Amino acid sequence: MKLKIGYLYPKLLNIYGDRGNITCFKQRCLWRGIHVEVTDISIGYSLKEGEFDLFFGGGGQDKQQLIVAKDLQTKKEVLKKEADKGKPMLTICGTYQLFGRFFKTSKKEKIPGISLFDMITIASEQRKIGNIVIKTKLIKPSLIVGFENHSGNTFIKDGLSQPLGRVIKGFGNNGRDKTEGAVYKNVLGCYLHGPVLPKNPHLADFLIKKALEVKYQKKINLKKLDDSLEWQAQEKAVQRAYKTG
Ligand code: GLN
Repeated sequence: MKLKIGYLYPKLLNIYGDRGNITCFKQRCLWRGIHVEVTDISIGYSLKEGEFDLFFGGGGQDKQQLIVAKDLQTKKEVLKKEADKGKPMLTICGTYQLFGRFFKTSKKEKIPGISLFDMITIASEQRKIGNIVIKTKLIKPSLIVGFENHSGNTFIKDGLSQPLGRVIKGFGNNGRDKTEGAVYKNVLGCYLHGPVLPKNPHLADFLIKKALEVKYQKKINLKKLDDSLEWQAQEKAVQRAYKTG
């Protein structure tokens, strides 16, 4: 089996170890004999439907988001079609915000997004930094842990996109309504840097499984891996979140 991963704007949107998610995808597939090919989707890349099985985009600062946002519009239609076909995508922070309707910066600049998630993001005075623990209904076990650092407050607007989870510790989408992240079909958005996948192997496998199922149009049972170190890493991160929160 083979997976083709499209990595959105790796040079512009890649902070707090987000690139590690790509390494995690690759390694977990390699351990199972699944071949992985990663292609950078940078500014000017002409994205075609059907080219990729899985998409990933990381976080970045407002300045980089402004550059990316313009280019992302040229990829909007293809990304939406792929999302509707059930293709999995993982978007973190800067990319997550641009997958919503818009991001209004602290300079009151309204950066248009691609409205894949029905949500808006507005910069605030409060920078939300620290380890974050959430509880999700999407996968089991239900805890997901990461590191957040954002000023943007994100609000999900209607029933088309659901929150990824409920905040147990940390700020999440906006520090008020206890929601974190968004889900539309198999497209996930969240504020969890870290990188998030190595210490949340169930989340990595959820995305890999979905990508293979959509590609090969059959039920896939991923080979079980020894994730004892990964779960230890998660436990440590959760403990740290409780200590610092
Ligand atoms: N510029 C955005 C914010 O601060 C995104 C930051 C990030 O990707 N970590 O809200």
